[in-house]
Parts: sequence; C-alpha cells; structure tokens
Amino acid sequence: QQPDLDVPYVPTKQETVEEMLKLAGVKPGDVVYDLGCGDGRIVITAAQKFGATGVGVDLNPQRIKEANANAQAAGVADKVRFVEGNLFEFDFSQANVVTMYLLPSVNLKLRPKLQKELKPGSRIVSHDFDMGDWQAEKTIEVGNDTIYLWTIGN
Ligand code: SAM
Repeated sequence: QQPDLDVPYVPTKQETVEEMLKLAGVKPGDVVYDLGCGDGRIVITAAQKFGATGVGVDLNPQRIKEANANAQAAGVADKVRFVEGNLFEFDFSQANVVTMYLLPSVNLKLRPKLQKELKPGSRIVSHDFDMGDWQAEKTIEVGNDTIYLWTIGN
C-alpha cells in the first residue's frame, strides 16, 4: 500500500541542491533538516560537502531505504539520520537550517509550524515555491529552478 503523499517525488538536481545549501550558508556545526527528503540527497550533500549534520523525514518508506543506502555509500551514515514519518507531525525544532521542495499550498500550511518551532536565526530554503506573503530575503535562479531564502527573526 502506498502512503498518502502531500507531494509527489521529484528529486532536486544536484547542482540546485548545492546552490540551496550555499544560499543558506551551511557550515560545519549546522543541523540541516529536509522536509520530504526523497532519496536524501540534500542532507547527504550537506554532510559530505558542507560539514553539517542532518535529518530527513519522508512519508514513503521506499525513499527512506534509498536515503539510508545513499548515506552509507557516501560515507556519511554517522552524520545523518532518515526517519519515516509525516512532516506535519515531525519535530524539527533542533534544526537551524530547513530545506524543502514541496508545493505552494503545503508551504503555506507549514508556515506556522516553521515560525513556531524554529529558533531565531534559523534559515529556510525552498526549491521552486514561495511562502505567499512571507517575503523571501533572497531569491536566486539556478537553470530553470528558483530558490528562496528566509531567516527566522527574533
Ligand atoms: N527533498 C527531496 C529533494 O529535493 O530531492 C525530495 C523532494 S520531492 C518533490 C517531495 C518528497 O516529499 C517526496 O519524497 C514525498 O515522498 C515526500 N512527502 C510528501 N508528502 C509528505 C508528508 N506529508 N510527509 C513527509 N514526506 C512527504
């Protein structure tokens, strides 16, 4: 039986993954959470190339299996963790960077939870979709992809 997904699986291109992490200024010590992590590529890249640790959550158990296998293959299994679950029920208060590639309606539904759980100074990066009237601090284009950045205020 397939899980009831809010968003279909479409992976982010590797080049865009790296630009997302750069836009968020990811550095060693950062804790990166990808909400709807797919095959884990954002969190794995954050560990492998940016020295961060990370957590991914996905509702589809197949994606979690792939993410764990990819983390092993990349040699970062000790720096990342992948959890099967619903992002709307997931505690991401330990994150200081949140990444997502969801949908406009899902971003809007998630906005209050992001604002409630994240600490001041935490960064949020979204691939392709904005947050309605929550104005992005920076927007960049990578090929056909658009990336948005917000920082949680005090
Ligand atoms: N973040 C990955 C990337 O950028 O390569 C994958 C993005 S893909 C567009 C969206 C992912 O969200 C899919 O892997 C899907 O299984 C997952 N997903 C959809 N609804 C979800 C939910 N309610 N909770 C957790 N994951 C969900």
